[in-house]
Amino acid sequence: MVDRSNLDKRTLTAQAMGTIDEATGAIVPPVHVSTTYLRDADNSYGKGLVYARADNPTHTHAESLLAALEEGEAACLFASGMAAATAVFQTLRPGDHVLAPRIMYWSLRDWLLNAAQAWGLLVDLVDMSDTGAVEAALRPGVTRLVWLETPANPLWTLSDIAAIAAAAHAVGARVAVDSTVATPVLSRPLALGADLVMHSATKYLNGHSDVIAGALVTAARDEAWQRIVKHRAQGGAVLGPQDAALLLRGMRTLHLRVEAASASALSLAHALERHPGLAEVLYPGLPDHPQHALARGQMPGGFGGMLSIRVKGGAAAAIATAAKVGLWKRATSLGGVESLIEHRASIEGPGTPVPDDLLRLSVGIEAWSDLLADLEAALPSG
Ligand SMILES: *Cc1c(COP(=O)(O)O)cnc(C)c1O
Repeated sequence: MVDRSNLDKRTLTAQAMGTIDEATGAIVPPVHVSTTYLRDADNSYGKGLVYARADNPTHTHAESLLAALEEGEAACLFASGMAAATAVFQTLRPGDHVLAPRIMYWSLRDWLLNAAQAWGLLVDLVDMSDTGAVEAALRPGVTRLVWLETPANPLWTLSDIAAIAAAAHAVGARVAVDSTVATPVLSRPLALGADLVMHSATKYLNGHSDVIAGALVTAARDEAWQRIVKHRAQGGAVLGPQDAALLLRGMRTLHLRVEAASASALSLAHALERHPGLAEVLYPGLPDHPQHALARGQMPGGFGGMLSIRVKGGAAAAIATAAKVGLWKRATSLGGVESLIEHRASIEGPGTPVPDDLLRLSVGIEAWSDLLADLEAALPSG
């Protein structure tokens, strides 16, 4: 038997934890499609598996890999990132107070301000790049959760996870981090003091734009975690086994993909920084990003594959740029092997706090020089 506890995370992902199927010797984990499991003659469920809304070995396999990558106690897959994120809030109680970023992943922000508030959660949106503002917004004994997204869509501001976790814990609040953009390759929120990590596994974890999935990872199998596990089993936002298997396959190349996208995004950010057609390049890897020092400490493996550009000439110039590119695909989402470009204000609609000259770039694993040439040909000359 190989002792996996000392293995590098690259080795664990490449081999999907390295386990061999006992029944067949299969190297690739089997896909368990059964919805139900045999009860033993003594009326017990000796194998611990009952019904696939709660139990599925393909899930468990992907969950154990993700828990190992995040250095957590346990992980839980969901049918989408939104299902994972909303599970965290839905296991709170009406009257509980939560803090979330002022600018964050749009659908979750919208859900928090509508569905969650209607259900009785008290939601305050705070500038999470300002630890002092977070401290001032915490209500001792009332605030139950601080939700962070770092780097946060689509301005790529960072939150100081360690400092905010210390402040939140001091008043009895828990901290959850949407780490979709950082991925476990670049940042480890639990090691910095967070209680939960959330991923839209649709993005980098799967990495091929062909599965919608979400995940939570916990630092402890505590009472709050048990509520989340039960919520998934009863609420039923479970991932299908075929998608769980695709996700596990995608994760096998996670390190290679994230490192390639990060390196290309950094090269693109530097190349575009002084482009005369651009008003601003937003990327935590640039030395003049306001939180570059925090990024260096909190994301030691790289600054991620997401950046945004603000095009001179406003919304019309930004939309015209997106219209002219060829290699970059005009689509929402992020974290796939193919590069995407998106005018964020168009998809977020009226009321968005995102500047209307902003294009969000999800850098894939193509040659960055090709991506740069395609973009330069589309940008206004200034
Ligand atoms: C896409 C995304 C989500 C939502 O995930 P889905 O899988 O689309 O439900 C949440 N947070 C971030 C940062 C995302 O990019």
